[in-house]
Amino acid sequence: MTILIVGGGWSGLAAAITCVQQGQAVHLIESAKQLGGRARNVPWGDDTIDNGQHLMIGAYERMLAVMQSIGIDTTAVFQRQAMDLTIHDTEYSPLRLSSKAYLPWPLSLAWNLASSAGISAVRQVAKLQSDIKRVLTEEDISVSDWLLLTKQPQRLVRQLWEPLCLATLNTPIAEASAHLLAIVLRDSLGKGKSAADTLIPSQPLGDLFPQMAAKYIQQQGGKISLGTRAKALLVEDEKVTGLVTDDGSQLASDAIIVATTASQSDALLSPHMKVHLPIEYPICTVYLQYAAGIRLKAPMLGMSGTISQWIFDRSEQTPGLMAVVISAPGRHEKMTKKELISCVCKEVHQLFPVMPKQAEQGFVIREKRATFACTVDIEKQRPSHQTDIAGLWLAGDYVANNYPATLEGAIRNGENCAKRMVADLK
Ligand SMILES: Cc1cc2nc3c(=O)[nH]c(=O)nc-3n(C[C@H](O)[C@H](O)[C@H](O)COP(=O)(O)OP(=O)(O)OC[C@H]3O[C@@H](n4cnc5c(N)ncnc54)[C@H](O)[C@@H]3O)c2cc1C
Repeated sequence: MTILIVGGGWSGLAAAITCVQQGQAVHLIESAKQLGGRARNVPWGDDTIDNGQHLMIGAYERMLAVMQSIGIDTTAVFQRQAMDLTIHDTEYSPLRLSSKAYLPWPLSLAWNLASSAGISAVRQVAKLQSDIKRVLTEEDISVSDWLLLTKQPQRLVRQLWEPLCLATLNTPIAEASAHLLAIVLRDSLGKGKSAADTLIPSQPLGDLFPQMAAKYIQQQGGKISLGTRAKALLVEDEKVTGLVTDDGSQLASDAIIVATTASQSDALLSPHMKVHLPIEYPICTVYLQYAAGIRLKAPMLGMSGTISQWIFDRSEQTPGLMAVVISAPGRHEKMTKKELISCVCKEVHQLFPVMPKQAEQGFVIREKRATFACTVDIEKQRPSHQTDIAGLWLAGDYVANNYPATLEGAIRNGENCAKRMVADLK
């Protein structure tokens, strides 16, 4: 019997890899002409960029392990460095969250924070960190309420917590789940120095994993069909028996993993069962091409008090290329691409005067449904892998796993779903 996998994003690919590693035959179908889903290659002139700048961290254990299991040298494909984040603001001096110092972790963090924002900032951050256990045992609240409860000063909210919340949960602090932020802080800052390392891909996302994954799956006898959309599931007596594709072909199987977004899954599942539909929020990336040789002081820098939130130096991939990220909904959505490029260039020059006033070229990619929103109580609403329909399983980043929408969450869910399904088949 061949296991059918719907969706060739990072989650579906991880599911397919796990199935073939367990000796199962798989057929993955992907509606787009390329693999990768929300983390894929996009052409820009002669260059290849990402559909949006992604950042990974050392705590992405399963992502790194799955990559290594298919022969990817994870030391070569990322620019990995110890955490060193400086957030520049229009009103305050730069705030530094960094593990670089002649002190052991986490004293190094405290040292750099104290040097940039004062000893009281260290006390406040420690206060929030020590409240993580408590907040996780109580009913979920919004991140803003949690910051109020722990009496975080305005500067830290603006220059640290808000940027971190937007970057990790893609949800404004007034709506974001304190539980999920607490888990992210616990698993990134609370698990030792290497978990907090930042990993910036040094090649386009599609080359980084999806293409390598496809090669591996096919070498192991798996089949991949691009440009093939699952249109309907075939269900008889509460058991899945196959699916129908866009061109009317029927693929028979009594084991199917649907590894798409919540709303795409709902389109397939709604005749048979209900899936909670979370709100979906956008992420916008503004690519700026400067003259070769223009570089930032660090691979990534935070920006606050501006529409721009983070700037990444992608010179390792293309000399002079910068990617500016704007997470969640906001004023930028109303701007034309030209207005946004001009505004972002101005902000970059304002906070980093060494950067030219204008870029040679700009390119805007708006991913309108980039991630599910991590709103209060979202954890209670996420579905589990196994459904009430026999043989029908769910993967994708939105399935319950205590993580926000991330590549790590997508890979974990693909892997866990496939393992549980194969165990069930046996
Ligand atoms: C701009 C942007 C920035 C991001 N930044 C980060 C970051 O910095 N760090 C991080 O960890 N994560 C980040 N993410 C989130 C991360 O990309 C996602 O969590 C992850 O890619 C989700 O993978 P997935 O496989 O679950 O879903 P998807 O990638 O959405 O894959 C689903 C696939 O299913 C296909 N499909 C849908 N319907 C059908 C159908 N009926 N038949 C066949 N195929 C179908 C789709 O075409 C798609 O390829 C970002 C996302 C975006 C968009």
